[in-house]
Amino acid sequence: MTSPQHMQADARSERPSVSGLGKLKRRVKTLGLQFLYNSGFASVIGRVYGGQGVILMFHEFTHNPRERLDQGCRISDFEELLGSIRKSGRDILTFDEAHRRLEDPAGRPFVVLTFDDGYRSNLELALPVMERYEAPATIFVPTQMMTREINAWWLGLRHMVLTNDRIDMEPMGIRIECPDVDGKIATLRRLTAWVWDDFHRADMLGHVFDAHRVLLPDLVESLVMSEADMIAADRHPLIEIGAHTTTHRALTLLSETEVKDDIGANKRFLEERLGREVPYFAYPYGAPSLSGHREADIVKALGFTAAMTTEPGCLFPEHFADPYLIPRQDAEYTEDSRTQALCGMNGIFRALASRGGRPLVNAGAIL
Ligand SMILES: [Zn+2]
Repeated sequence: MTSPQHMQADARSERPSVSGLGKLKRRVKTLGLQFLYNSGFASVIGRVYGGQGVILMFHEFTHNPRERLDQGCRISDFEELLGSIRKSGRDILTFDEAHRRLEDPAGRPFVVLTFDDGYRSNLELALPVMERYEAPATIFVPTQMMTREINAWWLGLRHMVLTNDRIDMEPMGIRIECPDVDGKIATLRRLTAWVWDDFHRADMLGHVFDAHRVLLPDLVESLVMSEADMIAADRHPLIEIGAHTTTHRALTLLSETEVKDDIGANKRFLEERLGREVPYFAYPYGAPSLSGHREADIVKALGFTAAMTTEPGCLFPEHFADPYLIPRQDAEYTEDSRTQALCGMNGIFRALASRGGRPLVNAGAIL
């Protein structure tokens, strides 16, 4: 294996592209979303695409997303969002309540809150806000987050970029100089996209992390709740723990047997510790290319009640006929999570993704 020292002789040295185009695009998106929402146009779209409710997805919460290289939901945005939801007359429901509500065509519109991966900030920052608004949430937890064995490559990349001004990215054959925050944000986006292009690359990062003094178990310990925290959280009246696989790998890379084992063992791990059935599941990453019909069939056979993807879209009664690939709206947008979520609740992102096509994502006949 080439050492980083050896690599210095032949790697291409680069500076991240921070021409401002990425920032400009995000600014335009933010202004577009704010216009859609404030002009009332979002609610016009919502009459077709808004369905009866929506599942919103978050991961980490933070006071300052810039300190996390533009990741996580700003906690003040989350607080404003819950206030806006309450003001709009929507209910914030658990999954069980949402299921029942979908069977009632005259039921009030609703929101379900979900947090993935089990971050400490869910309890330290989001829970006090949830308590103020009496808003429940489900936290989806992978087993290896609890045992600290997980290859949390996304956290490793962020920590590596945060704590190093020069990255020797041996598997890409490049060295990146990133001394300032904008450069670090651009670098993290580039490295993350490189893994998303081929998830096998998540397994190529171990020696890169070693060379940049990134210790994944310590990092996970600092950012993710402990097993005892998780058990205590599940007993809180506003929190339910859900399943999210054992290893948090991209499921399409695994054999059918491996997928069954990875999901089934997580369900058993959680149920043994929580002393109750765990009926809800979220696919890791959740993109259509990484969780499809094979995975949905396995989740159903393992006895889950419902499973959610990260495909944007709202909930319609048809979804609960076969609820194993149900849509979920990413609400985490560091520029303005509140407006992103409010637009998502009106199905804006489904309308855009389908170019004005079918409002229902993975529902009924197309499953
Ligand atoms: Zn996840």
